[in-house]
Amino acid sequence: MIPGLERYFGILRGEAVAKFQAVRRVEAERVETLDEMWKQHAALKEKMKELLAAPPDEVLALPTPRYSLLHLKVDILMEELKRCGFCSRACGVDRTRRKGFCGCGEESHYASEFLHPGEERELVPSHTIFFNGCTFRCVFCQNYDIVHGTGKLALPWELAALIDLRFSQGARNVNFVGGNPDQHAHTVLATLTRVRSNVPVVWNSNMYHSEMLAEVIEDVVDIWLGDFKYGNDECAERYSGVENYWQVVTRNFLRAAQRGEVIIRHLVMPSHLDCCTERIASWVAENMGPDVRFNLMFQYWPAYRADQHPEIARTLIAAERRRAMDIVRRHGLWNLA
Ligand code: SF4
Repeated sequence: MIPGLERYFGILRGEAVAKFQAVRRVEAERVETLDEMWKQHAALKEKMKELLAAPPDEVLALPTPRYSLLHLKVDILMEELKRCGFCSRACGVDRTRRKGFCGCGEESHYASEFLHPGEERELVPSHTIFFNGCTFRCVFCQNYDIVHGTGKLALPWELAALIDLRFSQGARNVNFVGGNPDQHAHTVLATLTRVRSNVPVVWNSNMYHSEMLAEVIEDVVDIWLGDFKYGNDECAERYSGVENYWQVVTRNFLRAAQRGEVIIRHLVMPSHLDCCTERIASWVAENMGPDVRFNLMFQYWPAYRADQHPEIARTLIAAERRRAMDIVRRHGLWNLA
């Protein structure tokens, strides 16, 4: 058993219920205004917590109301989409009329979906769904073909059928990724209203989502599989074009750990051991404890436009890999798969 992921393993053993399956069993009422939706949402969150504590057989045997807390969440996101602040860029654009910075309008598109054998050992085989678009612009993006591609239209009923199919084929979870999944939260939640399997939901994210989005999706995310890329705002702005990175991402990791289970990924970058790896490991050990699942990743390669930045236009050298391992060991975080 990997510490910090007890609930996830409980779902896999049939001893716990995937959160969205509880959320879709909480009856809600259709209301007109966004204000009324948010008020009802706050009230029903408490009811959902009671359900999560009940035996899974009892929860799964409950009827699924025609309009549930999960439907209410979709309706909230469809309204919030008109002044989009799904991520901390807070573009404020009406995505029913035009696209935001992430390149996404109202519709969602995905590049591929399959049983992924290459994620963390506790997740595989993982049913990964790679959405297009991203809220970051990483100069070393390894998925730039996915991020900037057009992909297939993501229709909730089709995706739901695929999720049930992949679960029957042995998927241990459904893993929403990209790019980044945040800008597609409305589509993902609409999809989950139709999924029958008790499958854990993994949110494979850059952790730059807004507090508004966290408030809505944290009730359906079982594992936050979050990237912790940078140890300071300067590196984040230079390589990913984002502002206020440290404050947003540390806030989101703390909140995710309070309301769900977390796996932290840190991709070690050349020349960034002191400013990024050291500072991240130190913060994680101090604020999230040594038992948090921390995955130190060494697969950096200078993809996309990394050649425009000489200090990262190369792969890691052996001394940097050794140093990164020493840093996480020193902070007591050595629980790499
Ligand atoms: S998801 Fe983020 S980047 Fe995309 S439109 Fe909304 S606020 Fe902008």
